[in-house]
Amino acid sequence: NKDDRISRISSSIRVIPDFPKPGIMFQDITTLLLDPKAFKDTIDLFVERYKDKNINVVAGVEARGFIFGPPIALAIGAKFVPMRKPKKLPGEVISEEYSLEYGTDKIEMHVGAVQPGERAVVVDDLIATGGTLTAAINLLERVGVEVVECACVIELPELKGRDRLGEKQLFVLVSST
Ligand code: AMP
Repeated sequence: NKDDRISRISSSIRVIPDFPKPGIMFQDITTLLLDPKAFKDTIDLFVERYKDKNINVVAGVEARGFIFGPPIALAIGAKFVPMRKPKKLPGEVISEEYSLEYGTDKIEMHVGAVQPGERAVVVDDLIATGGTLTAAINLLERVGVEVVECACVIELPELKGRDRLGEKQLFVLVSST
């Protein structure tokens, strides 16, 4: 039953107030990973959604997209592409800058990791303002990849990240206030 799975996932996520700074309610997915059933249910729900959609690429955003992305990629027969913080990838990269509350950040992807016309899902643990996922989408679209959807375990709806994604589909398992 899908709702049983969602409630197990939801209750396995620990919320830590004022981390990493005052006012932030940090959604800690490490406690979800400690519950093998909740972790499996999380992966299964994504796999059920993407298995028959001709997805070639699962792109995971550093760091927690690296936890959820690979098992999904393996199960649906797609490649996993890491989208990393600057200066981590050793080969030639393309990068995309995005704005934060103060200043900017950047994500990078290896040139040649994806091919024009491939179909991708972008995975992260959580969408807040949507800045990170927007940068990931832009990076993939710049090299001709079709981004079918973004997939997150958690959405913080108050931050309106979904609106920032515009027309792009967003699939989430849990909404948190
Ligand atoms: P954003 O780009 O604003 O959508 O922020 C999403 C990124 O920041 C994701 O990689 C999340 O892991 C992280 N993040 C933002 N807010 C939180 C939060 N309240 N709890 C846990 N992670 C968060």
